Amino acid sequence: MMDGCRSVEAEGVVASGRVAMVTQSSDRADARSGAAAWARPPVLAGYTYAPDEAYRARDADRLLAIRLETNRTCNLRCRYCYAESGVDADAVAPYEVLVDRVDQAYELGAASIVVIGGGEPTIHPRFRDLIDYIHRRGMVPMVFSNGLAIDADLAGFLFDRGASVMTKLDSLRPDRQDYLAGMAGAYDRIRRGLDHLLSAGFDRPDDPGRLRLGASFVSCRLNRDEIADIWRFCRQRRIFPNMEVLTPTGRAKESLPDQGLETGEIQQYKFGLLDLDREEFACDWLPYTPLAGSGCLQHLYSLYVTLEGNIRPCAPTKFDEHPALQVNGTYPYNTNVMTLREIHASSLFRYVRHIDAHLEGKCGGCEHLDECIGCRGYAYAVGVNAGKPPRVALRGECLQCAKPAAGTTTP
Ligand code: SF4
Ligand code: SF4
Repeated sequence: MMDGCRSVEAEGVVASGRVAMVTQSSDRADARSGAAAWARPPVLAGYTYAPDEAYRARDADRLLAIRLETNRTCNLRCRYCYAESGVDADAVAPYEVLVDRVDQAYELGAASIVVIGGGEPTIHPRFRDLIDYIHRRGMVPMVFSNGLAIDADLAGFLFDRGASVMTKLDSLRPDRQDYLAGMAGAYDRIRRGLDHLLSAGFDRPDDPGRLRLGASFVSCRLNRDEIADIWRFCRQRRIFPNMEVLTPTGRAKESLPDQGLETGEIQQYKFGLLDLDREEFACDWLPYTPLAGSGCLQHLYSLYVTLEGNIRPCAPTKFDEHPALQVNGTYPYNTNVMTLREIHASSLFRYVRHIDAHLEGKCGGCEHLDECIGCRGYAYAVGVNAGKPPRVALRGECLQCAKPAAGTTTP
């Protein structure tokens, strides 16, 4: 069954030096017979970029995307929310400010704008205008949404504007989803939104290698036993499975204090998902990357823009909250203080983009750097919680990675 995957040859990425080398050299490629029939999983349009694209953009000092917060208001109150959004938060960015940030990203080469809310973007009063504007500028509007506000009309609107959508699916069990989302009845409403997206055609992309619909789920102790089921549910419907790991930041620190998974547990289910993908969907991928089946090289080509205009490398890499990065009590890497171009060119963000040259522990000089730099957001959160300065925390070894030490074999 090839529903969720594509042929590497058909996509033409074998021609790329970086990708071809990774495919040949990885221990996953020759671990079983029949490896030649496996293909790389599809990307989610506007959200993930292939490693060769990411490095090419970085080397050209170009952005591929920004993550744009639009409003902290939300119609859910998820227990793991890094932004601590909820119904009591009332911050909303003015439309003109958002358009200016979109324009600045466009000037730096962005091909997509990931409208990530910070809260729930579909309830921003000018949400449709913003999506329309991104589309008219020739970029892919990529929308993170919990799905509650998505009805047939909105699903059709998004489809017609070339958007891709990442919805939410933390559990296939209503009681668990309701608990994690912090609201009774959340599961039913999430599934209704998903059904509207499927009916609009989001599961039938023109290019099977570039999906238009994803489902995000945060893995923790509560849903650990159904991760494979959620993964299969997604692959069978041409939905990009976006499995995140509970990060000790934001509301999760208080609301889900004992729910984090240990490194060994994370790796165990990643290897399980890789087996599932190989056996049922003919997909192959490096099992050590932070996002299973897709990896994350965001630090190379993307910037995260908070509601207030603070720039981070990614959502949990909260540079703006670190006292060591403040000047006279203010975080200077803010679009109200500097242009996006100035921030992008600063020594701090140049360091972020070239973090592969500074990594420590087993990430330093790793043979997989062409497609993996570990989870920098997780390393940063753990490092800062342990009192490390920002640059040191950012380059720390990825504690989620189970790559075997030299001379041993893959577990
Ligand atoms: S050691 Fe670091 S860079 Fe290498 S595969 Fe693991 S997480 Fe990725
Ligand atoms: S580096 Fe880690 S935390 Fe940051 S976006 Fe990538 S996977 Fe998420």
